[in-house]
Order: sequence, then C-alpha cells, then structure tokens
Amino acid sequence: MTERINCVECNFVLYWGETIKDRMGIRYSEDTFLARYEHKCPNCGGKVTTDSVKITFED
Ligand SMILES: [Zn+2]
Repeated sequence: MTERINCVECNFVLYWGETIKDRMGIRYSEDTFLARYEHKCPNCGGKVTTDSVKITFED
C-alpha cells in the first residue's frame, strides 16, 4: 500500500511511498511528517496540515 500527500494549492507531491504508519511506526502521523516542512508547502508556501492536504492511498 502506498500513500501520496499532495498540496491542494499547487498539487506538489509532499510525500509518496509506503504508508507513513507502516514505514515510520504507529505513533508517526501525517501531521508529524508535515511538521518537517514546518507545515508549509516548499513549492507554493501554502499551509500544509492534515486537514488541508490531499491524502491518497493506493494498493
Ligand atoms: Zn503547494
């Protein structure tokens, strides 16, 4: 299962790969990951939080 996180403003791919929880552990959340970007899209500077990004799961 793969997970993709896109910025809704510019569609920049913030994350693509194995499901974050499988890869980083159950305590690691999308929010923890987005904190690495200081909750800002590196492409457009838009706000990236769990509620504002587009998260897609694929088999
Ligand atoms: Zn963006």
